Amino acid sequence: MQNVLQFQQAKSNKIQWVTLSAVIIIHLLAVWALFTFSWQNLLAAAITWWVAGSWGIGMGYHRLLTHGGYKTPKWFEYFLTVCGTLGLQSGAITWVTTHRIHHAFTETENDPHTPRDGTFWAHVGWILQGTAQNQTEATMRRYAPDLMKDKFHLFVNKYYYVTPIVVGVILFAIGGWSMVLWGIFLRQVIGWHSTWLVNSATHLWGTRRFETHDDSRNNGLIAALTFGEGWHNNHHANPRSAKHGLAWYEFDVNWLQIKALEKIGLAKKVYAYELEKEKVQAEPLREAA
Ligand SMILES: [Zn+2]
Ligand SMILES: [Zn+2]
Repeated sequence: MQNVLQFQQAKSNKIQWVTLSAVIIIHLLAVWALFTFSWQNLLAAAITWWVAGSWGIGMGYHRLLTHGGYKTPKWFEYFLTVCGTLGLQSGAITWVTTHRIHHAFTETENDPHTPRDGTFWAHVGWILQGTAQNQTEATMRRYAPDLMKDKFHLFVNKYYYVTPIVVGVILFAIGGWSMVLWGIFLRQVIGWHSTWLVNSATHLWGTRRFETHDDSRNNGLIAALTFGEGWHNNHHANPRSAKHGLAWYEFDVNWLQIKALEKIGLAKKVYAYELEKEKVQAEPLREAA
């Protein structure tokens, strides 16, 4: 009951002014970046985009920390977590809590970001108006007890915003202010909208391989923008699977990298849902019927 009350509060119309101001300023700086193009700046943005979006958010926050689709040595788990903080989407414990609630209550009144509450709400409204980005300690204890036990995760969850500042200073030293505009601000805006599209667009547009109890879709365009996170219907059907792209044409960059990590011994206990195995297992049942 306590949590239900908190979720309803999460949908209040109270505007998060600090978040809103930061989001607006970062968008304006991203527009400024467009007037300072150079190939070095583009390269800086591409590298930070990959590190934050793929290693950090997709492989780290999502497939490793939220769903446990594979295991890594602790130091590597922490490395991916710090990469995730560069994506400026709150700390890992907060992110994991919100995302586990999304999976537990998809498309219900307790879902932090369902398009059934409006497309804009699902995209960014829930961050600007809701409180899901500031999960209470009680909610985090309930939904992410595994991470709440870990002192490193607790620390990084609190100071997640330090990483973009440190990386910004490094970029400034290498390429000046214009490289900060590209590697931090423009890259940040592209990274945000790509992730937000997973919450909005892939619950609205695309194909459905699995008859899940939610509106999740497979969307190739969003998958291309998010290193494979757009195969969202596959993902809702098999949340723990570290492999989201199930057919040969469902390109999944995050999965390819997890496979590579497995080859060099950094990823263990990799769980992958396979369409072929499903077919083989389903065959005798069909014959029996
Ligand atoms: Zn979803
Ligand atoms: Zn998920």
